[in-house]
Amino acid sequence: MACSRDRRIIVITMNKLLSAALILGAAALYGQTYDTVLANGRVMDPESGLDAVRYVGIQGKRIAAISATPLRGRTTVDLHGLVLSPGFIDLHSHGQDDENYHYKAHDGVTTALELEIGVSPVAEWYGARDGKAFINFGASSGHVPARMAVMHDTGDFLPRDEAAHRIATDEETLSIINDVRRGLDDGAIGIGFGIAYVPTTPRQEIFRLFQLAAERHVPTFVHMRGGVPNEPNSGAIPALQEVIADAAVTGASLHVVHLTSVASRLTPICLQMIEGARAHGIDVTTEMYPYTASATRIESALFDGDDWAKRTGNKYSDLQWVATGERLTADTFAKYRKQGGAVISHTLPEEALLAGIRNPQVMFASDGRIVQGKGHPRSAGTYARVLGLYVREKKVIPLMEALRRMTLMPAQRLEASVPAMRTKGRIKVGADADLVVFDPDRIIDKATFENPAQYSEGIQHVLVGGVFVLRDGEFVAGVYPGAGLRTK
Ligand SMILES: [Zn+2]
Repeated sequence: MACSRDRRIIVITMNKLLSAALILGAAALYGQTYDTVLANGRVMDPESGLDAVRYVGIQGKRIAAISATPLRGRTTVDLHGLVLSPGFIDLHSHGQDDENYHYKAHDGVTTALELEIGVSPVAEWYGARDGKAFINFGASSGHVPARMAVMHDTGDFLPRDEAAHRIATDEETLSIINDVRRGLDDGAIGIGFGIAYVPTTPRQEIFRLFQLAAERHVPTFVHMRGGVPNEPNSGAIPALQEVIADAAVTGASLHVVHLTSVASRLTPICLQMIEGARAHGIDVTTEMYPYTASATRIESALFDGDDWAKRTGNKYSDLQWVATGERLTADTFAKYRKQGGAVISHTLPEEALLAGIRNPQVMFASDGRIVQGKGHPRSAGTYARVLGLYVREKKVIPLMEALRRMTLMPAQRLEASVPAMRTKGRIKVGADADLVVFDPDRIIDKATFENPAQYSEGIQHVLVGGVFVLRDGEFVAGVYPGAGLRTK
């Protein structure tokens, strides 16, 4: 009895405090001076559908006002003729250092997450970036890095020997699962999988990790298994069936990474499978990057087998060696495979790409990683390329639709398990001031396969948590507003 009366008193006190705070808030609004006012921009918010010229007032880290009439700010920036959108959220960003964050910011990205391969150990990874990042960051607890550590693989970033080709012992399997679990304990955003890179992983190991994801209510992010050798015409379909089945029977959420690059010509039917799974209550989402070439490590298991060209129906000259830009032959392929390094595969048909861009379920994500200026141009150009080439020039989808799939959708994908995402990907009062301002007539990617280390053009300002990291197209030195995003 006494207990419930106490509780009632506390509730009444809380209500009074809340009313007082609201009255003060309303008073403050009248004639308020905001930290920053973004004036006169074309505000585009995919959640509410707002597409109109507005004044946006920022107070601290948050959006505090959106108004059709001018607002007063300590700093006011005029955005006449420019689009103000929520900052882009990249769910697939391997490059997680200063060099990569620079390219990301110049491409409009305010949150870059390493969710496919993920990391291990998770606490150290976050610790190395907390308070030192230009943009928001985060990672999944990675099956591949856990397997590499437990099985003593000598690979760099991706497995090259033990983890890729040896069967794990029962004790090793247990340690791998425990490593992944520890990563979740430390706040990792779900579980990352690169099954194609560890083809000796039995299906039961993947299934057990899906059980773990379901138990923890976190998503799985999956680069699916490679094709089944005696079923060459089925391509990625058996691999997609495996993970949809695991999601269906465990209840885990599934995000299939870079669908177009794994499904290739079978992209339309794989999209139908994902739509069908969703229609029957299974939580499956997917993403793509806007290029007709993929990239990976040449020594990885993706190139296993006697004759890669014959097995896949591609040519060695479809492969481009990242270090020199040269196209490969059977001889140079064999030489570089022994040496190890990054390789680009020009093997994705344009129709697969267009099928992905036209499908409203497909988010945009870069899969990028630049190492000392070298890599795939997707690392630096993904978002400007979608907006410049596929929205403005080729008119494949409208601008608002493209923005929805690079802001709101990725935020919604994560918000059930990562509370910070509930206030990202939107422009509304109370949302985080993670914002990008760009010129819709000028925005375009500049990164190429020959020179990937080129900033995108037309991105004018980028704010992370209310702080400018890019202003008038120039990087702002010495600010580190990026926050580490974690599962609650
Ligand atoms: Zn991948």
